[in-house]
Amino acid sequence: MSSYIFPPAPQASVAVRGQSARYAVSRIFCVGRNYAAHAREMGSDPDREPPFYFTKPASSLAPAGSAIPYAPGTGNLHYEMELVVALGAPVFRASAEQAAAAVWGYAAGLDMTRRDLQNAAKANGRPWDLGKAFEHAAVITELVPRSESGELRAGAITLAVNGVEKQRGDLSDMIWSVPELVANLSQYYHLGPGDLIYTGTPEGVGPVQPGDQLLGVIEGLGELRLAIGQPE
Ligand code: MN
Repeated sequence: MSSYIFPPAPQASVAVRGQSARYAVSRIFCVGRNYAAHAREMGSDPDREPPFYFTKPASSLAPAGSAIPYAPGTGNLHYEMELVVALGAPVFRASAEQAAAAVWGYAAGLDMTRRDLQNAAKANGRPWDLGKAFEHAAVITELVPRSESGELRAGAITLAVNGVEKQRGDLSDMIWSVPELVANLSQYYHLGPGDLIYTGTPEGVGPVQPGDQLLGVIEGLGELRLAIGQPE
């Protein structure tokens, strides 16, 4: 048995609806610009780009249903409401059919983004980590097993801030479907249980302020509630 100079960080995990056992998280992959209207609002052509990815550390997970602090180092913290896919089986160089079978469950999530830092990174050709990979940046609800939800191929995905709707799309509007995303990502990684994929956001992203109350809904899955706290 190994000993450690410092105690290891706690295992990152997500609650599962109706179960006491939790889903242990290994990696968090995120897809950029997977809804055409959002790709356009970010200034790109949705028709010509294959999917691209960035990651967040598992330590960036934050459970929905409570509050997160307003992130440090930004004046433009944005929400991005997304369907999150949780894998439950090994998948490597998979077909879309094999990829679909590896989906264990779904959650609703917020890809919180320090937009000012992301935009500066883009402008300078630098990595997005400061804009995307920080504490409380991967907000997530409890997971719903696919055995209960069924395949989520269509259904409204919305986000309201303080009761005002800001984002509305449909899961069927994804440029790359969930099986296609998993199959594509599996060309580059040995994916498996513990891997989460944030599947991209519809149009209407925007800033939050301390005190804001967010309510996201994914039809056929459930609600995500989050409060934005004061800066740390
Ligand atoms: Mn996103």
